[in-house]
Amino acid sequence: MTMKKIEFVLAPFETHWVGDGFKVHNFIPSGPGLDMKRMDPFILLDYNAPMKVPALKRPAGVGAHPHRGFETVTFAYQGKVEHHDSFGGGGVIGSGDVQWMTAASGVLHKEFYEEEWSRKGGTFQMVQLWVNLPAKDKMGEPRYQAIKNEMMGRYSIDGQGSFVEVVAGSYKGVEGPAMTFSPVALMNARLRKGAEADFSFPAAYNTAALVVRGSAKVNGVDAPTDHFVKFANEGEDFTVEAVEDDTIVLVMSGEPLREPIASYGPFVMNTKQQIREAFDDFNRGKFGYLED
Ligand code: MN
Repeated sequence: MTMKKIEFVLAPFETHWVGDGFKVHNFIPSGPGLDMKRMDPFILLDYNAPMKVPALKRPAGVGAHPHRGFETVTFAYQGKVEHHDSFGGGGVIGSGDVQWMTAASGVLHKEFYEEEWSRKGGTFQMVQLWVNLPAKDKMGEPRYQAIKNEMMGRYSIDGQGSFVEVVAGSYKGVEGPAMTFSPVALMNARLRKGAEADFSFPAAYNTAALVVRGSAKVNGVDAPTDHFVKFANEGEDFTVEAVEDDTIVLVMSGEPLREPIASYGPFVMNTKQQIREAFDDFNRGKFGYLED
């Protein structure tokens, strides 16, 4: 096994608003060298860095919109998000939780701050990652996985409060609870100052890390807070060492699907014809109905 090569460490660049609630840095696909094909199966990563939200009369967020052909994985690091969809599903994810929504053949949903949290305001921080679906699963049944923090796998590193929290895939034999359609690993290294976690993923897997809190050294290279680390497809092993207390690094690695990608807005399919069908189905009400 050899050391995985870091291609670059990217500082967060400009933000844009998603609805009126989420102010995000888009790393995938708009970052340099971070397009959908290169990061396959990860096709989008929006990062809402910590921001102060004032007390609001009405929760901010994004109103009813469709998705088809992939999964949205939402990590709430600080604050609370409430979600509703056109099939009657819904839920609240709070600090430390993950919501894994398989849009597959299509859902309409809306994403807002949770009402009570929104009335008081506070610090908000989240990540939304889109994981592409294999062609054979794109038109499957939508489903949800509400992954509370306590359901996640936990591998203790030093017995002193540093651990790796496993959402999907496995870490040194500790399994994450998420069901996935292709090999995907998603985990948070939550480390005290000086603690180190080591990771190993095949060279062919597309692999990256985001420093969500504190700051780290990844294979000895400085990775400050809010920075995105992209690995080349060379080597397997890397280490994440916390430079500060309470450092959190989100690590993602996935086997590329290596299938054609046709995408338009909220639809990610394999062909342009399938994108046209998604629009037709959406206009015909096949995604169900949901009030804003
Ligand atoms: Mn959405």
